[in-house]
Amino acid sequence: MSEQLHEQLSADVAIIGGGLMGCAAALALRRMNLSVVLLEQGWCGAQASGVNYGGVRRQGRPASQLPLSQRAYAIWQNLPELIGASCEYTVSGHLKLARTEQELATLEDYRVMASEYDLPLEVLGRAALRQRYPWLGEQVAGGSLCAGDGHANPRLVAAAFAQAAKHNGAIVRENTTVKTAVFDGEKFHVLAGNDLTLRAKFLLNCAGAWGAEFAGQFGETVPEYPIFPNMWVTEPMPKLVVPNVGIVGGGFYVRQVERGNFVLGGGRGSGQLDIASTRPASASMFASMQMACEFIPALKNALVIRSWTGVEGALPDHQPVLGPSATTPGLFHAFGFSGGGFQLAPAVGEVLADLVVRGSTETPIQAFAIQRFSTAS
Ligand SMILES: Cc1cc2nc3c(=O)[nH]c(=O)nc-3n(C[C@H](O)[C@H](O)[C@H](O)COP(=O)(O)OP(=O)(O)OC[C@H]3O[C@@H](n4cnc5c(N)ncnc54)[C@H](O)[C@@H]3O)c2cc1C
Repeated sequence: MSEQLHEQLSADVAIIGGGLMGCAAALALRRMNLSVVLLEQGWCGAQASGVNYGGVRRQGRPASQLPLSQRAYAIWQNLPELIGASCEYTVSGHLKLARTEQELATLEDYRVMASEYDLPLEVLGRAALRQRYPWLGEQVAGGSLCAGDGHANPRLVAAAFAQAAKHNGAIVRENTTVKTAVFDGEKFHVLAGNDLTLRAKFLLNCAGAWGAEFAGQFGETVPEYPIFPNMWVTEPMPKLVVPNVGIVGGGFYVRQVERGNFVLGGGRGSGQLDIASTRPASASMFASMQMACEFIPALKNALVIRSWTGVEGALPDHQPVLGPSATTPGLFHAFGFSGGGFQLAPAVGEVLADLVVRGSTETPIQAFAIQRFSTAS
């Protein structure tokens, strides 16, 4: 009886996790004709990938992420061709504000660095900035505009990547929790709930905040910890703010969507990883909203209609783990994006496919190597 119920699947590539990383990888691999089975413990895109702020931003990333981010930027431009939907992706510009002349100087230093990665930024002083954006408050000392950055609706993006992966032939199993994965020297044996065993030559660990758990099963210890960024949204307001706006230090970030609602983020909530329970924290949310109101006074009259958070895996150096395992051939990790993986994900999918198919990628990923923690046991 139990033998009849037991299901066995095999594929070239097994993927743990149906967030944006896993779904983008599944699609990229199918486009390279490999067979793929993706296992997701809940619903694809229901965790960080589906509840994030929606910032599609290169500005502000460290130099080590800019080549990956530029690769992602090129893919975002072709979203409808790739996944059949634009997902409300808007090239609105990303404006980073400075409170002081000192902060403005850091934006100028960043502009110089970013130009080496073909990322054009325009740094504006107080008068020029307020003339261009009259909705800004008086406290602002200046800002830096990345005209090519923007935002998108996260509720749509991962689901659309999952759909596109399925449409291209990937097997996507939702409500299927991976319990263990082992390597027998030739193949991976992935044991999942629903009495499913999956055998594959390659395994991708795209388990987000749960990624370190699977790295640990292969003797790799990574100091990943969960973070829970606060998010909230206002009632629809008259259209005012075009760019996606942030501030040096990250005290708040805000974008206004087509319907007029302002989506905001700032501060951290709390949660419990084992039961995927998350909760925004009102004190840090109010402090961030207060700061946002100082810089965009029109927000003072906005009614907040909903708040939420989600769980994201973070690492002490705020860089993800992306690349081959240090212990196990055929295992590749992509987790711990530390609050910045939404924009990167389409390129991460392609990089993972490069690694599986060719064993290397043209995109520099050394800074993200799991070996930097040097704790393989
Ligand atoms: C509130 C919030 C705001 C953010 N804002 C931005 C932003 O504006 N811009 C930006 O670039 N980034 C942002 N991020 C970060 C971005 O959302 C993440 O970096 C990105 O979505 C990570 O994708 P992922 O696929 O690694 O993780 P996830 O989307 O969390 O996917 C991992 C998946 O693995 C599954 N999984 C875990 N364990 C198992 C198991 N045992 N078996 C099967 N499946 C399993 C989970 O259910 C989950 O669906 C934000 C994150 C949060 C939480």
